Formats: sequence, structure tokens, C-alpha cells
Amino acid sequence: MDEPVYARPNRITPGNPVLFDEAVCDGCNRCLTVCLEDVFIPNPEKGKPPLILHPDECWYCGPCVDDCPRPGAIRLNHPLQQRVRFKRKATGEHFRV
Ligand code: SF4
Ligand code: SF4
Repeated sequence: MDEPVYARPNRITPGNPVLFDEAVCDGCNRCLTVCLEDVFIPNPEKGKPPLILHPDECWYCGPCVDDCPRPGAIRLNHPLQQRVRFKRKATGEHFRV
């Protein structure tokens, strides 16, 4: 097949399920391989983090982070509504259920 294939990230989705640290990531694409939802595609630039193509497909399940061989290269970026904590009035303790 000689025809080029194009892929366009879904810019409409407000979420950004993971954040890459380009200074740490070496573009090995391990995270892309283990993601069951095909959130990423390889970066055409060698050594760069994968591109997020379908952010709205992310389950925040975490294998992309757990299997990354370079700690700090990728981290989950949970949506605001998933970061809710409760606070005990009596003690001021913050907790999640
Ligand atoms: S984030 Fe980790 S697993 Fe993904 S490409 Fe970068 S170094 Fe590899
Ligand atoms: S959290 Fe799960 S679904 Fe989301 S990008 Fe990582 S592996 Fe894929």
C-alpha cells in the first residue's frame, strides 16, 4: 500500500488521561503496547512519547504507567471529579471511600 495514512487526535475531548515527561520518556512504546483501549499511537519522531489519539477511550486502569520502564515518564491525570476527597469535621482528616 503506497497511500499515506493519516491520524488526527480528538481535540474535542477536554480530558488528557496521561501526562508524559519528555525529558524521561525514551519513546519505547511499551505503554502503547499494553494499553487495551488503543489510546495511543506511536510518535513518528523516534525517541518521543506516543501521541494520544483517543483520550476519551481511557479507563484510567493504569498498565501504561505500571509497565513503563522509566519511572516518571508517564503518569495518570485523573479527571477532577475522580479526585474528590472527604474531610472529617472532627479531625480534619482527608480520606477517600
Ligand atoms: S512513557 Fe514509558 S513506556 Fe511509554 S514510551 Fe515513554 S518510556 Fe516507553
Ligand atoms: S490508563 Fe489504561 S486505558 Fe488509559 S491509557 Fe493507560 S492503559 Fe490505556
